[in-house]
Amino acid sequence: MTSARRIVLLGAPGAGKGTQAQLLAAKLGLVHISTGDILREEVRRGTELGNQTKEYMDRGDLVPDELIVAMIAERIRDRDGFILDGFPRTTAQAEALEEIAPVERVINLQLPEEEVVRRLSARRVCEDCGKIYNLITSPPQREGVCDECGGRLIQRDDDKPEVIRRRFRVYTEETAPLKDFYRQRGLLREVDATGTVEEVFNRIEAALA
Ligand code: AMP
Repeated sequence: MTSARRIVLLGAPGAGKGTQAQLLAAKLGLVHISTGDILREEVRRGTELGNQTKEYMDRGDLVPDELIVAMIAERIRDRDGFILDGFPRTTAQAEALEEIAPVERVINLQLPEEEVVRRLSARRVCEDCGKIYNLITSPPQREGVCDECGGRLIQRDDDKPEVIRRRFRVYTEETAPLKDFYRQRGLLREVDATGTVEEVFNRIEAALA
């Protein structure tokens, strides 16, 4: 399908980066690296990094670049491919990534703001395996229970309305400018993120071809 092995998924919170990254990683045999998932796990385990980052995440703000870049560098150095979801989120992070492992393809998932808010409010996540559900568009077979592992489905703390609005503002101000960074390098592909998971996945595959 594609020879690109260092892929970044961009897009607002709720645009479907996590869901699509999980599918794409399985299909291409690449590791899926989600900075949000890694940070939530650090917070849950009460590590030093988790304690340093929790307050930013609770507010819907970005965690400082130095912490994130160090965390990512350790995970991608010496890997020959990856799908990044939620990183980079600032121009400083994108520049750092170019030094560590230059990206080959960037997919920007485009979704209108009303749809973002609607999806985030209906999002549920398995607390054990991290599988993502949507109560409206992709509900689990049994309410509150993960189809894959039987784990409990929870709502992320930052998927509450006040924090969603803050995250969306942070995205517009700090992350959206990254589209220009990658467009100038000829790496950006725009993908319409409306519709079903499968429809969006097919568009991503076409954009990577
Ligand atoms: P996500 O699951 O990608 O929506 O990330 C959840 C939260 O983790 C964000 O709202 C930020 O507080 C933090 N976070 C995740 N990735 C990054 C990043 N690349 N830079 C800074 N903060 C991040």
